[in-house]
Amino acid sequence: MRKQHHRFLLLLLALIIVWSQAASAIGAAGPEQQEPMTVVVCVLDGCPDHSLDYLPEITYLRRLCLDANSQHKTIEAVFPSSTAAGHAAIFTGTYPDKNGITGKEYLGDDGEPVRFNTPDTTEVPTLFHIARSAGYGTAMISAKANVCRRLSGATDFAIWPGSVPDWVIESVGEPPDESTQYDNYAGWHIELDQWVLRTVEAYLKYNDGPALVGINLGSPDTCGHRFGPVPAAETTDALCAISEGLEELVATLEATRPGRWSLIITADHGMTRVDTGIAARDIVGDITDKDVPMTLDGGALYVWADDEDRGKIADALRQTEGVAEVIDINDKARRAELHIEHPRTPPLIAISERGYMFIEALLFMDYTLGSHGTLLDTDIEIPLIVVGPKADAVNLENVNSITDIRSIVEMLFDI
Ligand SMILES: [Zn+2]
Repeated sequence: MRKQHHRFLLLLLALIIVWSQAASAIGAAGPEQQEPMTVVVCVLDGCPDHSLDYLPEITYLRRLCLDANSQHKTIEAVFPSSTAAGHAAIFTGTYPDKNGITGKEYLGDDGEPVRFNTPDTTEVPTLFHIARSAGYGTAMISAKANVCRRLSGATDFAIWPGSVPDWVIESVGEPPDESTQYDNYAGWHIELDQWVLRTVEAYLKYNDGPALVGINLGSPDTCGHRFGPVPAAETTDALCAISEGLEELVATLEATRPGRWSLIITADHGMTRVDTGIAARDIVGDITDKDVPMTLDGGALYVWADDEDRGKIADALRQTEGVAEVIDINDKARRAELHIEHPRTPPLIAISERGYMFIEALLFMDYTLGSHGTLLDTDIEIPLIVVGPKADAVNLENVNSITDIRSIVEMLFDI
């Protein structure tokens, strides 16, 4: 009887110890059991950082730059300062020499330049792969088709005007009709971006779980090329319309996941005003009768010249008015400094001076007032704005390049 009583006391003691340990473990785990964050990365295509300074003070983007609850910093795009390389750098956290997205085009197996338009051309995992393996929803919603196609390797939804799920048509409607885009060029592209932002809101309502959402807004770029960068009126209108759409998006984020969201606003590259074209194909055509593969990407010219012609073409380009720099395949140090040493990078690259761009035919300059691709500050310096309830917890001290945005997203996922 006495022995049994003893046993009962020991059992009770053991139960108390187990219970108190379990209770303290639950207490310690409490803060970590919060619902994970939704992170939205919004790329303003072709938006230099200084464009935001010209916007009216009441616009949301301008207010965000001054808001104590958000953070704004000027960061650098990669070279070439163009769309494919910029998005790859943002969404992989690596430079072109690591991720393989070396510019607008690379040389295909048939010897012709081909666009980067499939996910397998990106040689490292994207943020969407990371988010998906952590159990997050993933969506890329884009005004530009190729941007979306390249980033669609690990997305639940890759939505662009040519590929729209039924639930988007039902809740947001069709994107603007492509056949009407030249009737009112700026207005059409502004409308397309508003459709993109409404589609993002529809996704956030459709899927209330934590997610990584990528956005590409094309109107600062398309208007910037046609009418010139801000303060050109049409491009300013585009950024003002985007400002309004982003303010609505933030309201939807807070309504659908209160306190558990973050919005990162950045750009893939800037935009520089231009007035003079360099007819690069004519320059190469004067040297050789061969069909030399070339990519004219605004301020950056890619030439796949063979060993016989390379030196002569390089010399001719160096003597051309408006050419700032020619980088040969043997300039290993310069290629390493620009993070472009990769088998897809052509043997010859030329970069234009301010005010100049490489163009297929000089008559196209009648419709072109903006360009990008160079190392000029207006092409390279872009904004980074971190918005949301956890924005002040993000340390931007070591964030200087768009390749550092990946670390911010990973930081936010862990908060
Ligand atoms: Zn772009």
